[in-house]
Amino acid sequence: MLQICGMKVFDRIASLQDEIFQQKQNGKKIGFVPTMGALHPGHISLVKESKESTDVTIVSIFVNPTQFNNKNDLKTYPRAVDKDLALLKEVGCDMVFIPQESEIYPEDMEQKQYELNGLDIFMEGEYRPGHFNGVAMVVHRLFDIVSPSISFFGEKDFQQLAIIKQMAKNEAVDVEIKGCKIIRENDGLAMSSRNLLLEPEYRTTAPEIYKALKDVKANAGDKSLADLKKDVVSRIENTGNLKIEYFEIVDTVNLKPVDKIDSNIGVTACIAVHAGNVRLIDNITIIS
Ligand code: AMP
Repeated sequence: MLQICGMKVFDRIASLQDEIFQQKQNGKKIGFVPTMGALHPGHISLVKESKESTDVTIVSIFVNPTQFNNKNDLKTYPRAVDKDLALLKEVGCDMVFIPQESEIYPEDMEQKQYELNGLDIFMEGEYRPGHFNGVAMVVHRLFDIVSPSISFFGEKDFQQLAIIKQMAKNEAVDVEIKGCKIIRENDGLAMSSRNLLLEPEYRTTAPEIYKALKDVKANAGDKSLADLKKDVVSRIENTGNLKIEYFEIVDTVNLKPVDKIDSNIGVTACIAVHAGNVRLIDNITIIS
């Protein structure tokens, strides 16, 4: 265990759990923020939420190989541990867990297949096979290690948030899952660790993604679904360099594409775009 001005940094499960045990003995409520590092203000907003509603905040930094369906994406995923630790210290994080892969996935660990109640069929599930099983596996494992009272996730990863709630319910994990709002750059681009990898010409056009989503929301009452989709496709294609992977308007609860916008159900518009070699996702609530 390493201490950075009062912030405790662990790489071993056993010493992390000793400290968590002590904190729980003292009646402290544990908040947990799982991340893959290369932290930005979106991540830091989750840490702040945790600090507001719990006594001890733990952040994990682990680039989880089982959720990458593309080897190159795993290889190039940004890593910036020293900067991450400085940001976490500045925001007043209490503990950081930075495990080796062998701590999270010991050789004898069962490779579980999670039943995700159909939430993993569309969108990310369709284009990133195996991704959500990897997410469910790592988050389940981290919940087992940390046993937090509340865990904080960004609505930026809208489908992931729904899947983690479902996994926790199915696996009877006693944790409250809190969704936190999307933090954006000034020009509207949703903050993401992957933004660091954007070439300048893609960084210039990437804000069109959120502009397209805002148009969908503004026009949802007047236009057909087909016309809303057409508008999104033409706005993204007009950038000349962004390519849509999917755009879907879905039921916020079961994540199935809707055939009309019905004000009686929650509706969310979700998009994935390729900006060169970088894949960006975003979403907007149409009806809450
Ligand atoms: P990641 O490091 O990308 O796995 O993200 C860790 C957590 O931060 C996840 O719960 C994400 O949804 C959340 N997150 C990432 N980007 C943002 C953002 N722009 N606003 C809010 N939360 C975010």
